[in-house]
Amino acid sequence: MLKASFSTKIILAIIFFTLFVTAFERYLLSENITSQFKKSKESKNTLLINTISPILSLNITLGLDTSNVEYLKTIINQNSDIEFVELLDQNGKALFHFVKNPDAHLNVIDKCINISSKILYDSITQQKVGTVLIHYSNEDLNQLIKKNKTTTLQIFALITVLLLLFIFFVRRSFRDLRALSEYVLSYNPKLKNVTLVPSSRNDEIGVIQNAIVSLLRKIDNNAKELDAINHTLEEKVLLRTAEIEIVNRKLQLLSTTDPLTEISNRRHFEQIFREMWELARRKETQIALIMCDIDHFKHVNDTYGHQIGDEVLISVAQNIKKSLKRSTDLVARYGGEEFIIVLYDTGAKGAFDIAAGIQNNLKNLKFETMKNRSITLSFGVSACPITQEFNGDTLINNADKALYSAKEKGRDRIIVHI
Ligand code: GH3
Ligand code: MG
Ligand code: MG
Repeated sequence: MLKASFSTKIILAIIFFTLFVTAFERYLLSENITSQFKKSKESKNTLLINTISPILSLNITLGLDTSNVEYLKTIINQNSDIEFVELLDQNGKALFHFVKNPDAHLNVIDKCINISSKILYDSITQQKVGTVLIHYSNEDLNQLIKKNKTTTLQIFALITVLLLLFIFFVRRSFRDLRALSEYVLSYNPKLKNVTLVPSSRNDEIGVIQNAIVSLLRKIDNNAKELDAINHTLEEKVLLRTAEIEIVNRKLQLLSTTDPLTEISNRRHFEQIFREMWELARRKETQIALIMCDIDHFKHVNDTYGHQIGDEVLISVAQNIKKSLKRSTDLVARYGGEEFIIVLYDTGAKGAFDIAAGIQNNLKNLKFETMKNRSITLSFGVSACPITQEFNGDTLINNADKALYSAKEKGRDRIIVHI
């Protein structure tokens, strides 16, 4: 019962209420009718006995017994509810006796209304001359109660029919409402599944349905607008991300590249050298460094100008880069006209060979702007197997020392640090 739906509860409440009110109303009405009937019957019986009593008294006084008999028969004929009449003289002798149905017992319900008796007196001497006794049938009362019952049953039947109709319409209304709410629950703006159409009904369900339709259409339109905005936004984000990526790559290149020679700068060298050192330590291999410096570069600048000096720097840098073959080899501008080359998994001998190759290549490089002069480099080479006690700074210092030694010994040469 507690789990019953709201509509069922309302319907049951209405049924109980209606039945209770009807039953109570019918009970009061029934009581009223019965009591009215009893009162009128009582009045009629009193009136009848009061009316016939003087006539019966007079006839007895005058000894007109036959007249009394005729008179009482007429009264019996005129009052069909009379069951029993007895007229006695003052000695108790029956002057008239009538029983309508001798076999049937008289069903006396209410003595006041069903039995009337009166002592008859002589109107002049006021002496008792006899007694009259009348019994009435309950049939009319029974008929009335029966009719009452029938009417009550008819009213209940009619009410039941009306209630059934009412339940039918209420349930139909609630069914429509339930269908509407199920529809709203299944609605998904992403699926764009609005299939509900405006209702032509004028009742509350129609009003609610139309409000929901209008609301769903607005949601649908907003969802479409939002989709379009999202789509453009996604495209914009993709475009912006690509642009940012390009800019980032450019920035990274800029931060790791020397702007004049377009080879790696010192910062990039230091980063790569650190990573390479760690890798070499794990792989238990060696690393070699070549530090090289243009000989008498000041003289170049002083003689041909800084612009020519810059061109020389660019050419030397690109030349060194071209001389390196492995993808792990890296050349960086270490200072003004000084370069550093880091060689992974390479020993002193290999590094020396590479330095010699560069030295050789440079010999063939003639600078038209400097009257076909060529440029020489001094090289300092250091190499080592990676050990715990040896670190990157030592390797750089050793290369630097070797380079210093090469300069000292007359330039254009390769010195390997031992
Ligand atoms: P050494 O053989 O001993 O190395 O003599 P050097 O003249 O090359 O060495 P020094 O240190 O005396 O002079 C280096 C010169 O390099 C001085 C400086 O003006 C020049 N220089 C450094 N960076 C640049 C640059 O970016 N462009 C140009 N044009 N010159 C530069
Ligand atoms: Mg120099
Ligand atoms: Mg120098």
